[in-house]
This record gives sequence, structure tokens and C-alpha cells, in this order.
Amino acid sequence: MPKNPSPTLPLFVGVDVGGTNIKIGIVDDRGERLAYTKFPTQADQSPEKSLDRIKPVVQELLDDAGLKMEDVAAVGLGTPGPMDIGRGLILTPFNMPGWHNFPIRDALAKALDKPVTFANDANAAAFGEYWIGSGRQYCSMVLITLGTGVGGGIIIDDVSVDGAHSHGSEIGHICIDTGLDALVCPCGKSGHLEAYASATGIVNRAKEALRAHPESSMLDRNAEGSPLSALMVSESAEAGDELALQLVSETAMYLGRGIAQLAHVVDPEAFILGGAVDFGGADTALGRSFLDGILAEAKRLTFPVVAEELKVSFAQLESDAGYVGAAGMARTEFMKSASA
Ligand SMILES: [Zn+2]
Repeated sequence: MPKNPSPTLPLFVGVDVGGTNIKIGIVDDRGERLAYTKFPTQADQSPEKSLDRIKPVVQELLDDAGLKMEDVAAVGLGTPGPMDIGRGLILTPFNMPGWHNFPIRDALAKALDKPVTFANDANAAAFGEYWIGSGRQYCSMVLITLGTGVGGGIIIDDVSVDGAHSHGSEIGHICIDTGLDALVCPCGKSGHLEAYASATGIVNRAKEALRAHPESSMLDRNAEGSPLSALMVSESAEAGDELALQLVSETAMYLGRGIAQLAHVVDPEAFILGGAVDFGGADTALGRSFLDGILAEAKRLTFPVVAEELKVSFAQLESDAGYVGAAGMARTEFMKSASA
């Protein structure tokens, strides 16, 4: 956590609810991260229990950092979808059976006695990168997160594209393959980006490809007890395994196809890639060639002006993006209401 002896007031609390952990951070008016903690979500139990923990946790974070609750102007809350943003409801999040149809926004506002801005967790992460991360120099950007699934967020001039039904920016479900043999997405539909470029999609494609490539070192590693994973594909590609390299470049191609569609629809200043699947990121030759592959395919499919201006880079905030972005969204709402 960066040291900041003199925070710029007011403060904002960001709460990032995930299926495994609830992450809570305090940031100041410039987005400086002042304090952070996380605790298990207890997704199979009633959400009231977890919410009861949030107030003392926030108070403790403030106390430890020498900060005061009265300096907190607002709270930002990000949760997994599906959700109803207008009504402040978390609907039926995957892996959180105890939390269905819970009015989480108002419950948190009551618990902390602060206004709460409610967002999809991926859109909040996009806002975090937009505010103080890789997108800070841009007025418009698209974040694509590659993890177990593919998520994303679109931010244009401080506004997150949430859509009329709280399902805007569902980048993982862009259709990139309309063929009869297209892979099936976890959402049940065929040909979606998530079925190809998520960690799960990469593993499924690797399994299929290994049938025709018994020479791949990934089979040996698998036989030695390492589970086939996106990380194994990444490490094997780094070590020069031909099939793994092919899987990485195909992943780049699929992402390039998704980005080409988004580029023609949104025309953002930049695309930013977040999430655990980064093939080593910008510090490795593999990570850089992954970006080059994405860009090459996206440029191949876009018309000249769009192609020339395409930018793709890696995210910077890692797992902080969600709570920082939620706090940033709360700050934007606060500033709007203060100037109204
Ligand atoms: Zn889908």
C-alpha cells in the first residue's frame, strides 16, 4: 500500500464483493490507496452476516490509517452480475447461492450511513483503470478482463456503459464464431468470446488440441501431476512448446476479433487487458507477442482510421482495480451531486 501522509479529502470507500472475498479499500480524492483489507464472502450464507462485518472493518481501516469516518464522502460497491443497478439488487450471481435477490446497495448504505454507488464488478474495475491505472490518460477506454471468464467494462467521459438492463459491457459474450461447431459459452450460447479466450476456454481448447499433438510437453507435465491450466499453457509457451505457442497466438486472434467489433462500435482511445491471464504481461516477450497478435488481428478486421489508432495494453491495478474503481464511481456521483 503506497504511503500517503497527507491524503486529499474527501475520502471514498470502495467495496468489491466477489464469490470468494470481499475487498475493501479507502482511497482519497486523487485515487491514492490509503488502506486495504479483505475477508471471505461466505457466499453460501446470508449476506446480512457479511454486511455486518463491513462497518467495523471500515472503521478499523480508518483508525489504523489515522483517518476519520466523517471524512468519507461516499461508498462505491461492485458486485458480480446479474444485477439490477437501478433497484440496487444483486440478482443471481454464480457461486453465491445465499445472496440471490438481495437489496445490497440499500443494505450497505444503511450499514455505513453513507450514499452508495452500485456497479457491476467488471465495470468498476474498468473505472479503476480509467481513473488511476493504464487508462488514466484517456477519456474513453474498454477494459477486457481475462480470468475464469471474460469480463469487461466500457468507460466514456467518466460514465460506465451499464446499459438499460444492467447488462452493458458484457464483452465476454460478443459472438466471434457463428459456425455450427462453435464452442459453447458458460452462458449456454455458442461462439462467444468467453468460450475461447477465458482461462476455461483456453484449457478446453488445449485439451482438444492435445489429442492431435501427443508430442507437446504439456502432456508430460500433466502426466507428472500438474493440472492443465491457462498458466501451464503460458509457462509451456514461454519454454518454447509449439502447441502452447499456437494456443497463445490463437487466443490473441480471438481477442482481436472481439476488439475489432468493439472498435467499430465504441471507437475508444484504448483497449486495456486485465485479469490473471496475461501470458507474462508487458515484461515478457511472450506477453508482448500476445499483444502484437491481438493488435494484428484487430487491425486486419477494422477499416483504416480505426486500425491506425488502435491501442492495446495491459492493466496496472491488478486486484485493486475493483475497489478503487467502485470508489472512483462513488466520487464521480458525489461530485455530480455536489455541483447540482
Ligand atoms: Zn456467453
